Amino acid sequence: MALSAKVAGAGLPSFEPGWVWLVGTGPGDPGLLTLHAVNALAQADVAIYDALVNEEILDLARPGCRFEYAGKRGGKPSPKQRDITLRMIELARSGLRVLRLKGGDPFLFGRGGEEALALVEAGTPFRVVPGISAGLGGLAYAGIPLTHRDTNQAVTFLTGHDASGLVPSAIDWQAVAKGSPVIVMYMALKHIERIVDRLIEAGRALSEPAAIICNASLPDQTVHETTLEALPATVREAALQPPAIVVVGEVVRFRALLDSQVPLPSQQRIAEPAPGDASS
Ligand code: SAH
Repeated sequence: MALSAKVAGAGLPSFEPGWVWLVGTGPGDPGLLTLHAVNALAQADVAIYDALVNEEILDLARPGCRFEYAGKRGGKPSPKQRDITLRMIELARSGLRVLRLKGGDPFLFGRGGEEALALVEAGTPFRVVPGISAGLGGLAYAGIPLTHRDTNQAVTFLTGHDASGLVPSAIDWQAVAKGSPVIVMYMALKHIERIVDRLIEAGRALSEPAAIICNASLPDQTVHETTLEALPATVREAALQPPAIVVVGEVVRFRALLDSQVPLPSQQRIAEPAPGDASS
């Protein structure tokens, strides 16, 4: 039986007209979608998607589904958050099944919380489908476990810039540096120098292992291993570009042992079964 038919028969919910589903698509590899995400794509009338949603995922939508792009494109500024929210509400009120696709998990640095609150305020019915966040999936695809009993009992996820584009002033860097052996940073490339200074001032060792994972889980994924002190130089010299996850902590050392066992996304494709193949 084809996968989509099995998904349809798996007792997954029906996408009712007039609803908005806020769905996380994971870091990029379509294989990291949840069954709820695949089920949503199979029923949506219109999908509004962000820049970090891998366009290959859109191919899984039902024929006839319309797409609206809500990210930054060609140097043009991204549409205002309020406009995106109003558009979702408008489309839902017109009786469509509105699929809001977000990279990673919608509720982790994804503004999914703001969008869900606006839907509540508008009285628009909605469902939230979590996704694999880049900080989880990206590390796994780089062969780095988030925790290991020998190294850390805590992890911190933080963003490298706030709503105004600056290093977030609300982060207590002393507390993070002291309390969190592993620090996973989103959107951290722009201010990497200042972030590293703050962690070192707060007592983190210059030689602590660090890694930068760009385009995690996609065929062009790259992983650069370095040290906390050398993070800014690594970003500069390799001209690394977003999207990237930066991780600092002893867990990075496990990559030497584990990476060879984590196949690259491009090696993970399973060949399409030949027509008439009994196993399909
Ligand atoms: N909600 C998303 C995060 C959105 S914020 C999630 O849960 O993953 C955007 C940031 O996420 C990027 O700047 C980058 O830091 C990270 N990110 C998202 N996708 C990524 C990918 N494929 N590879 C590396 N980093 C990624």
